[in-house]
Amino acid sequence: MTVPIRAAVAALPAYQPGKPAPAGSFKLSSNENPFPPLPGVLEAVQASCAQMNRYPDMGNSAALEALAAFLDAPELPVAEANLALGTGSVAVLYHLLQAVCEPGDEVVYAWRSFEAYPIAVQVCGAKGVPVGLKGDATHDLAAMAAAITPRTRAILVCTPNNPTGPIVRHDDLVEFLAGVPDDVLVVVDEAYIEFVTDPAATRGLEIWRDHPNVVVLRTFSKAYGLAGFRVGYAVAEPRLAPALRATSLPFGVSVPAQAAVIASLAAHEPLMARVAELVAAREELVAGLTDLGFDLPSAQANFVWFAAREQTMAYAAAFAEAGLMVRPYAAGDASDGVRVSIGEPEANARILTVAADLPR
Ligand SMILES: *Cc1c(COP(=O)(O)O)cnc(C)c1O
Repeated sequence: MTVPIRAAVAALPAYQPGKPAPAGSFKLSSNENPFPPLPGVLEAVQASCAQMNRYPDMGNSAALEALAAFLDAPELPVAEANLALGTGSVAVLYHLLQAVCEPGDEVVYAWRSFEAYPIAVQVCGAKGVPVGLKGDATHDLAAMAAAITPRTRAILVCTPNNPTGPIVRHDDLVEFLAGVPDDVLVVVDEAYIEFVTDPAATRGLEIWRDHPNVVVLRTFSKAYGLAGFRVGYAVAEPRLAPALRATSLPFGVSVPAQAAVIASLAAHEPLMARVAELVAAREELVAGLTDLGFDLPSAQANFVWFAAREQTMAYAAAFAEAGLMVRPYAAGDASDGVRVSIGEPEANARILTVAADLPR
């Protein structure tokens, strides 16, 4: 006899982490920020390390206070009671689904989208209902609406969509939500919100203000460059936020991570300058690739998407050959492609050089 593993866990697809970059090559496989820590962050973190013998503040109160002050606006009041912090927004998503899903409940999401979604759904015993993207790699909201059943407990909307890049339009999401029952949780995952330049894009906090069943997820991993510290958060109505905290692992967000959040929020201007640089690099890369004849989907985050299909592994190999570790998605179907993160200027230039010789 052996210890039984829950069927839902035994059947989990493995999360494929981005490949580490060998010496002399660039890691463009995890949508990380290529910049060093923001001004003041390293110092704050180092100072906080003197507290390592103490448990972190379980309520994350200083970090939540700073975050509420950062997000709060006259038209869009956000209070600490609306916030829950977790060890990355992926962890917050796990807590959310655990808080609302019973075994067998359905969770609708676009596909291809963030590969943590099907895993998170299965871990909590729910059933994933993937809905194919449209030809332009955007969410097919009409098909997602049609996929709602009495068993639907949650819907995940990723804007901009990882790994393909396009946003969900604000007006389209508002219209979609009008057809979603009030008791279905809708998660708006804005992991890349800082990089968005399309004025038509979803404004998650506005959507959240007008719909109590909406939760906005954000992260410090991408624009803020804190991927290694694991901090993300949810903005939710005051009844959902405590449920989220209740399903969280206690003391998850570490002492240095809480310090890093506070210092990062204080470095808003340098943050936005870096984001602007990455966005400019993205636009330059998209223009260069378009000149080469690539027909890319709209790129609104810090990566570009090649719908390489059966050439996916060949593309990844060509990039690796040139010292660029990229992220192939090769399930063997029409959704296959390669995601390439915007990185250091030298890496971005090299992407174009490699792309010129890629098979079409
Ligand atoms: C990177 C990412 C996240 C955030 O991950 P963390 O757990 O906060 O590091 C969430 N959603 C999407 C779509 C992402 O790409």
